[in-house]
Amino acid sequence: MPFANLIVAWQKSHGRHHLPWQNTRNAYKVWLSEIMLQQTQVVTVIPYYERFLATFPTIHHLAAAAQDDVLALWAGLGYYARARNLHKCAQTVVAQWEGEFPRQAQDIMSLPGIGKSTAHAIAAFCFGAKTPIMDGNVKRIFTRYYGIEGQTNKREIENRLWKQAHENIEQADKNLDMPAYTQGQMDLGATVCTRSKPKCDACPLQSSCYAYRENRQAELPTPKIKKTIPVRSVNMLVLQHQDRILVQQRPEQGIWGGLWSLPEFHNEQELQSLQNDWQQAQQSALKLAAFEHVFTHFRLHIQPYWLTCTHLPLREESSNSRKHQWLPLDQLETTALPAPILKLLQGLHQFSGTVDLLGS
Ligand code: SF4
Repeated sequence: MPFANLIVAWQKSHGRHHLPWQNTRNAYKVWLSEIMLQQTQVVTVIPYYERFLATFPTIHHLAAAAQDDVLALWAGLGYYARARNLHKCAQTVVAQWEGEFPRQAQDIMSLPGIGKSTAHAIAAFCFGAKTPIMDGNVKRIFTRYYGIEGQTNKREIENRLWKQAHENIEQADKNLDMPAYTQGQMDLGATVCTRSKPKCDACPLQSSCYAYRENRQAELPTPKIKKTIPVRSVNMLVLQHQDRILVQQRPEQGIWGGLWSLPEFHNEQELQSLQNDWQQAQQSALKLAAFEHVFTHFRLHIQPYWLTCTHLPLREESSNSRKHQWLPLDQLETTALPAPILKLLQGLHQFSGTVDLLGS
C-alpha cells in the first residue's frame, strides 16, 4: 500500500479524532489551532484555543478586537509574534478577502504569520487540496523512514523532504482523503514516531522503515548543532502602591512586543530616575531573587527589585513616556503580561531574604 494510504488507514483506526479543532472545515478554527500548535503542546493549547474562540467566535470578532485584548488571551503561550500576526492576519482576511480565507495554499501563504506548511495544512484540511505538509513531526517521520541524513533546517534537506512529500501524494490512490492524511502524519509523529523512544511496534510504516531496520531511530533526524546562547541581564522594578503594580507597555518590536511588563533599569542612576518619575523619594528598594528566562536566541537574566509607594504619583507620564498603568493585582491573569513576569508578581508575597539596594 502506498505511504500516504498506510497513514490514512492508520489514522482512521488509531489517530486522534476528538481534538477541539477537528471535525471542522472552518478555516478560521483550523488556522487558529495551527498557529497555536506551533512550538506548543496540544494539552497546553486546548484551554487557550477554547477561550480564544469563546471571546472571538469569528474572524470578524478577532479583526475588530484591540491588540491588547488579543495579547491578554495569548499571555502564557509564548512566541508573542504569533499573536500579533494572528491579529494582523484576521484584519487582512476581513479587509482583502471579504472575511473568507483564500482557498489556494499560495494565497494563504501570503497572509501575515502563515508559513508554507501551515498554509498547506489549511488548504488540505479545509478545502481538500492535494498539498503536503512539512512540520517537525513530518520531518521526523520522513528522515527516519527514508533514511534522510543532514539537518532538516538546511535548504538542500528541506527541498528533498518537500519533494518526497509531493511524490507521496502523487503515488497515493487518486481519492486520497487529504484531511485524514494530513492529520495522520501529525498524529503519527506526536504519538508513535516520537522524538525519543518511538513506538515502532505500533507503527504502520515499520515494515519499510529505514531507521527501524538499521536501528538508527536515535540518530535521525540528524541533531541540530547546539549553539551556546548568550546571556543578557536586566534589572526590573516592581513598584507597588497598595494593591496595584506599575506596568509599562513594551514596544511592538523586540521581545514581549506589545505586552505589559515592569519598568527596566541598568544602573542605580536609571533606578533613581525611575523613582523620580514616580515621585518616590528616599525609600529603599528590596532586591528579590533573580531568575532566568530562556528565549530562542538568548537567556535573559532578570534581577527584580521591589519598592512600595505610600501615595500614587501625580505625574501622568514617566520620562520615557512609555504607555503605563497601575494594574490591580486581581487583574494580573487577565492582562497581557509575559509568563515570567506574571509568575513573579503572583509570588511577590513569597519572597524572603531580600536586601536593601539603596541602603547597601
Ligand atoms: S517504524 Fe519507528 S522510526 Fe520508523 S516511522 Fe515508524 S515509529 Fe518512526
